[in-house]
Amino acid sequence: METILVVEDEEPVRELVSVYLRREGFRVETAEDGEKALAMLRSFVPDLILLDLMLPKLDGWTVCKEIRKNLTVPIIMLTARGEEFDRVFGLELGADDYITKPFSPREMVARVKAVLRRAKLAGSQNDVLCYPGLLIDRNACRVEAWGQEIQLTPKEFDLLWFLASHPQRVYSREQILEQVWGYEYPGDSRTVDTHIKKLREKLKNPGSKNYIVTVWGKGYRFGVTE
Ligand code: CA
Repeated sequence: METILVVEDEEPVRELVSVYLRREGFRVETAEDGEKALAMLRSFVPDLILLDLMLPKLDGWTVCKEIRKNLTVPIIMLTARGEEFDRVFGLELGADDYITKPFSPREMVARVKAVLRRAKLAGSQNDVLCYPGLLIDRNACRVEAWGQEIQLTPKEFDLLWFLASHPQRVYSREQILEQVWGYEYPGDSRTVDTHIKKLREKLKNPGSKNYIVTVWGKGYRFGVTE
């Protein structure tokens, strides 16, 4: 099931959009301001974001720019008629499309589907993850840290991809084993520790950033820390 994050401060619009998207079989998460949207994106990555331009706390431009630092998830901007909206600026910031309010829900749904389709055709943009100093390309099975290509074993790659596609989320060793090695794997949780250790060594960088954080008593999470 594909998940859409709807970022919109006007409740009636948020509700209307959610109802129509759910009716089309999408899972919908909502945020009523820009700060909340960014906070949510630290723990999950939706398949598409509908992003209102005029938002409390952080406006749509800023949110869009922040999202693009880490994620390639498609973004459709929602703008109100009469609002000054610079389409070129929006596209430069990384928005994929925009819809002017008031819009018909059917048109909105059609646009969402079109952008999702385009994103998939574009060679699944979500197969590349970018973090400060780190690039992970799943199609090419390539990892680059600070401009240097790094050689990982297939399991190390899967492990890094899994953690990096769920930034800030804490996973126990057992959960990681299940997700990366599969239920059938007879090994124990020390396997995870060994692989994390090797990954950290390989990802060591001059910026002394640490990408995999140990959460004592719980497990590991991906996050960029100094
Ligand atoms: Ca608004």
